[in-house]
Amino acid sequence: MHKANQLLKEIFGYSSFRPVQQQVIESVLNNKDTIAIMPTGGGKSLCYQIPALIFNGLTLVVSPLISLMKDQLDQLLELGIEAGMLNSTLSDDEYAQTVTRIKEGTLKILYCAPETLLQQRTINLLDSTKLSLIAVDEAHCISEWGHDFRPEYRRIAEVRSRFNDAVCIALTATATDQVRLDIASQLKINPDSVMVASFDRPNLFIDVIPKTDPQKQAIDFIQQFSGQPGIIYCFSRRQVDELSEYLNNNGIKNRPYHAGLTDNERQTNQNLFRNDDINIITATVAFGMGINKPDIRFVLHYDMPQNIESYYQQIGRAGRDGLPAHCRLLFGYGDINKIQFFINQKNNSEKKTAYDKLNDLLSFLENRECRRVPLMTYFSEKPASQKCDNCDNCLTPPPEEKEYTVQAQKFLSCMMRLDQRYGASLIIDVLRGSKSEKVKKSGALNISTYGIGSELSKSEWMNLFRQMSSKGLLKVNAETGSLVITKVGADILKGKQKFYGYITPAASPKASVKKSNLQNSELFELLRTLRKQIADADGVPPYTVFPDKTLIEMTQFLPQDQDDLLMIYGVGHNKLQKFGNQFLAVIKKFCINNPGNNHQRITANNKNRKESAHSISSKMYQDGTPVHEIAQKLSIQTSTVIDHLNKWISEDNPLDCEALLDEFNISEELCFRVHSLFEKHGVFKLKPVFEEAAGEIDYEILKILRLWYITGKNSY
Ligand code: ADP
Ligand code: ZN
Repeated sequence: MHKANQLLKEIFGYSSFRPVQQQVIESVLNNKDTIAIMPTGGGKSLCYQIPALIFNGLTLVVSPLISLMKDQLDQLLELGIEAGMLNSTLSDDEYAQTVTRIKEGTLKILYCAPETLLQQRTINLLDSTKLSLIAVDEAHCISEWGHDFRPEYRRIAEVRSRFNDAVCIALTATATDQVRLDIASQLKINPDSVMVASFDRPNLFIDVIPKTDPQKQAIDFIQQFSGQPGIIYCFSRRQVDELSEYLNNNGIKNRPYHAGLTDNERQTNQNLFRNDDINIITATVAFGMGINKPDIRFVLHYDMPQNIESYYQQIGRAGRDGLPAHCRLLFGYGDINKIQFFINQKNNSEKKTAYDKLNDLLSFLENRECRRVPLMTYFSEKPASQKCDNCDNCLTPPPEEKEYTVQAQKFLSCMMRLDQRYGASLIIDVLRGSKSEKVKKSGALNISTYGIGSELSKSEWMNLFRQMSSKGLLKVNAETGSLVITKVGADILKGKQKFYGYITPAASPKASVKKSNLQNSELFELLRTLRKQIADADGVPPYTVFPDKTLIEMTQFLPQDQDDLLMIYGVGHNKLQKFGNQFLAVIKKFCINNPGNNHQRITANNKNRKESAHSISSKMYQDGTPVHEIAQKLSIQTSTVIDHLNKWISEDNPLDCEALLDEFNISEELCFRVHSLFEKHGVFKLKPVFEEAAGEIDYEILKILRLWYITGKNSY
């Protein structure tokens, strides 16, 4: 691992491994076949790239999409790593060159499409070289249970068994147990060697707001991001085309993406987005796989997603770089009808599953607690806390519930008068005394409940209706879409029970994500322009030159020479040589033109910048700032703050852990339990403690408890 850490710093320019990355790499380096399950943006690529650089022989990476392969390759080449690819798009010349490099043994990493891998000439080629590692990327493609089953992936197993001396690592972001087991059995990997990272993405701010005036809501939202990349998801192709045109006409440049466009149009639009030539893509679900862009700052769901899985997958495309990103969903009840319409086209057994999924989604959307609790629970993960402080419900709790028994009775009795033959929309129109054709046709103009509900607007009624539905007063008939009263509903109608609910204020100013204002600074824009020039000249996407996080650190620390620059996130030796002087020139010029900004330089000029970063966080903590707030202010992860505290105490500085235990809701009971584990295993390595606790206590909490243990408040 010593070598691994060194490569991480020198080649990739990162300071530490993420916890599961470290475990996975350790396992692979010990020649153990391993399955790594990590969310999008979790850092899967490093899990095979670092071992590839350590092993003697070649690393073969099987990857399902040429665009993904190309993207990875671009990034590796910028880092100065000997990598190449084999797939159907290569010219004869390119093919021959790659083959030569394999035969000479100079190539370290070879990306290969599964079809190409199965060709005899590829097998022969691999036979002629030493293969050290086989990495199966997007490994869920091997499973029929997964959403992207690829028959050719099944046959990777044959190749794998032919090269038995090579270690095998399978990587995926797909979480279901069925798929994991399938991957293990197909590739003959022991299911015990599955390593799973948390699926929480703490940097994503999540909010759901009522859809009232979607076009205006979209524009207002997008304008907050002043030119930073984002994706808008719509339900249908038509919706994409309409919205895309509307936005273009209103000064928001964007391109559409959906299955109705030609391959060429799709490819062009995707490339424009990848290369920062266009900032916004308006798309259907067709857009996403194959997009590795790390700096997507928002995902807007203009329409309701199909289910929680696809929602989570789509918002997961934001903020892969770990910087704050905003995921907003516009929730309109009309969208439910559209989804129901599609569900009703399915056969009966599929219908049931689809309705269950719809209900899961609806309860997520209507949930009043922290958004992460139902999400994490849905993915069979215990939420780290009941409050994430990075979603709408945590930051702006929804209104208190009030009694709405009378309104519920009006609604239910109107349903009864109309023989339970209609859906919510018509019932509400009748209650509000609408004279629409539909209402006239239903014969409702003469019934006693006609017009008795004008005290609420249509959307307020919809609000209450959804709560009546989620509290089980009524059910939707899957076949017809009409509403049916239940036993609970009947009790409320008879006055035997009361009904409580709440109405969301129409334009509730929900809290918005805290953005790092540095991203808008003048220097940031200058650096971004330089990055774009370099990228265009090299024919690669700008993020392969440097990710945003690197540019932000440059604006924060104003490095003045190559040594300073090496301290910056994402700057390794190769990139330093290739681009270092160009970036330094821009920064220096900026410093000369803006002498007032030099206060930040003091830290940059300090060669021990990483150390000063940890003392900055530690001092903030000692001054009473909660860890989550420190993380937000410094645009780093909470886990990094904890690592900083660790470093701080390792230099023998005092630390009071009381506030930390409170902030992370760590009970005395847990302290007691872990105390004895530390006594038994020592504090040097957390893994034995983690394992003895059967994975119930996550690494972050263990790290906090280690701080607490070491700093001496441990007198049990
Ligand atoms: P995945 O394939 O799991 O979606 P990637 O491998 O693309 O994720 O990694 C996501 C981002 O995180 C990339 O920009 C990558 O360079 C960065 N990254 C990965 N590991 C680390 C690390 N240990 N420290 C800092 N950044 C990292
Ligand atoms: Zn929350």
